Amino acid sequence: MDLHFSPRIIEIGKGKSERLQSIIEKNFGNVNAGLITGGNRVKQIAENVITHFNSKILTIVLKNTLSEDIKKIEKEIVKENVKLIIGIGGGSVLDTSKLIAYHINIPFLSFPTTLSNDGIYSPIVVIKNDKRLKREWTPLPEGIIVDTDIIKDAPYNTILAGIGDLIANLSAVQDWQISSIHTGEEINYEALYLSKGAAERFLYYILSQDTQNKDKFLTNLTESLIMSGISMAVAGSSRPASGSEHLISHCLDRIMGKPLLHGIQAGIAAIFTLSLQHSGYLPAVKKMYKSISFPLSLVKSGVTKDVFISAVECAPEIRKRFTVLNIKDKKEIENAIKESGITE
Ligand SMILES: [Zn+2]
Repeated sequence: MDLHFSPRIIEIGKGKSERLQSIIEKNFGNVNAGLITGGNRVKQIAENVITHFNSKILTIVLKNTLSEDIKKIEKEIVKENVKLIIGIGGGSVLDTSKLIAYHINIPFLSFPTTLSNDGIYSPIVVIKNDKRLKREWTPLPEGIIVDTDIIKDAPYNTILAGIGDLIANLSAVQDWQISSIHTGEEINYEALYLSKGAAERFLYYILSQDTQNKDKFLTNLTESLIMSGISMAVAGSSRPASGSEHLISHCLDRIMGKPLLHGIQAGIAAIFTLSLQHSGYLPAVKKMYKSISFPLSLVKSGVTKDVFISAVECAPEIRKRFTVLNIKDKKEIENAIKESGITE
């Protein structure tokens, strides 16, 4: 297990980028830090963050995630005697910089510029290497800093994706329980409660409170995504946050040339898998999705019914993970597709 119980650095709120240097100094002293970032909007954000530093900081702009380029960056970081890496960006930047920090055995701070999935604070790296997706296991980041002012400016679609990836947990934990009944797979209940609690708290926050305050809304989402990441570290696998809805999303990635955002796919697929599981959460999830304008229809999002059915058929084969899809016949699947309304 990669968990250690010393306190981590978790800072969420307005204007955090202005205080990044003091957060680093408070926790690491006068450390030689390096910053890894991406292109376009992300690069601009990183440049803006650096303006608040009163000393020079090595900044590396990630161009791709090919292993030879990653090795080159690792060499440069070692040569420059960098002892802490801050990743500023979205999924790919954070995953790559986390992996680099892990390879050279120095702490990593996650500074997400969007909340599009639970990878903002997780022990799993998914990296596209020579067109293939590779999964690697790393420790959790040493900390995470989320500036809600920056997240507010990200496209709304990316926030919806983060919500979809989080709600997927409700379907994933039920798959885990189904597998336990049918295959005897062991359940880590600490991880299961964390994952389910993460999704549940956000779901009922949206349904029961005034969500007009954007900072509170984004803080709540960030906290829930962090809990989701920790659940995977506790379980030692992605099991608590990735079930049949994720398998379907991985198949959609494979079938479609240009898939939707990961969290949007997983979040819509979860309406179908929760329906297949006869989950009591489904009405609340649909109500919540409606209230935030999360897409309830795959077809209206550009995925045809045929493509979705192919993805459902491919799902049990794409990864060895027992889910509700393993115990339902064609007719039950057909009924759940209809009932869920996602292909309307
Ligand atoms: Zn996910």
